[in-house]
Amino acid sequence: MMESNTIQNLLLQLEELSPQEGIALVCDLFPGDVVFSTSLGQEDQAITEIIAKNNLAVEIFTLDTGRLFYETYDLLARTISKYRLDIKTYYPETQTIEEFVRTEGINSFYESVENRKACCFIRKVAPLKRALKGKKIWMTGLRAEQSANRHGMKLIEWDEGNQILKFNPLLHWTMDNLLNYIQENKIPYNPLHDKGYVSIGCAPCTRAIMPGEDARAGRWWWESSQKECGLHTHEPTGKK
Ligand code: SF4
Repeated sequence: MMESNTIQNLLLQLEELSPQEGIALVCDLFPGDVVFSTSLGQEDQAITEIIAKNNLAVEIFTLDTGRLFYETYDLLARTISKYRLDIKTYYPETQTIEEFVRTEGINSFYESVENRKACCFIRKVAPLKRALKGKKIWMTGLRAEQSANRHGMKLIEWDEGNQILKFNPLLHWTMDNLLNYIQENKIPYNPLHDKGYVSIGCAPCTRAIMPGEDARAGRWWWESSQKECGLHTHEPTGKK
């Protein structure tokens, strides 16, 4: 675990920098140890563009759950082609997912929160842990505005569950900041965003939302849970 003073100092520095400058600083401080998880959402596409444009030494990966939208796969292919990047894809462990589907059913996530969390664990959380293994900084596209759960997050904070420093360079960006950046830089994005899909995950667990609804309202809409899949667990105690 990293010293909390070190994290605090880094946080103070990052608060003064733009996302681009912040990512460059983190790459300088932790050469070869910075990874970025992209789900191909608008925030992640902006970060990918920053990495590519500035030729920053960040390892980029995505989690293919096997249940993504066609549009997401198409965007992945277009992004790799446009920016000439190596985006590594992680998959669920074959035997585990085969066993789960055989015993619980292909769409068992609709039947209980327990099944939904088990599916997310096998298809997302476990592959994420493999991707983060041995790295020091995990960069994400989280923004505070996205949901109530994310308001307490910091630009950089210790992720106890994954034992890694989590860096959220776009944390303070508003939706307008993000959309302007995407437009100005002609960044490719998922066409589903233009059809009311704000936060896009797996196809059977994502739907479009109405104007004014919470950005996460279209995820697992049949549940009243916190709309998180276990990838981003935030401890409001500010534990470092
Ligand atoms: Fe499974 Fe749905 Fe979670 Fe995707 S979002 S991993 S399909 S429960």
